[in-house]
Amino acid sequence: MMPRIISRAAAKRRGLKRYFTGKPCIHGHTHERIVSSRCCLGCQRAYNSSPKGRARMTRYDRAPKGRERRWKTNHSPKGRDSLWRYHQSPKGREAQRRYDQAPKGQDRIWRRVHSEVGKETRRRYQRSAKYQNYRRGYENAERLNRYLDPKSSDFNMDRAYAIIARRQRGGR
Ligand SMILES: [Zn+2]
Repeated sequence: MMPRIISRAAAKRRGLKRYFTGKPCIHGHTHERIVSSRCCLGCQRAYNSSPKGRARMTRYDRAPKGRERRWKTNHSPKGRDSLWRYHQSPKGREAQRRYDQAPKGQDRIWRRVHSEVGKETRRRYQRSAKYQNYRRGYENAERLNRYLDPKSSDFNMDRAYAIIARRQRGGR
């Protein structure tokens, strides 16, 4: 859809950020232009995706101003939503996996696991029925191995059969 034609002066008077002359720029884009800089959006888009433009964006993202802006975006409802969608996407998952395996990511995981919050999460998990159940299953398997091992001092067929019978009934 073509934007409506509006001169720069008229757009400025109305407090708009963009104007549109309908005439192509020197690079042949027929796009809207920015009132403040007269910059063509087509040119800007091309610049932003060029190596030079990308490098500049990276520098901006790392500077205090860029970080603040990013933080604000990521914490706004819209930003959170788009971040969440990105993390669910194959691309986002892959990036997360790569990050987790890199030294920086490993360090972060280590710090999280050893943080108070991480320790509390771990304690909560260990109190959960899921973990208790898993733990019981594991201990029973170990015990069963000892009962079934003729070389073990715990060798005891009756107890082994009792565990096997309980398992067959669907218990642990
Ligand atoms: Zn242009």
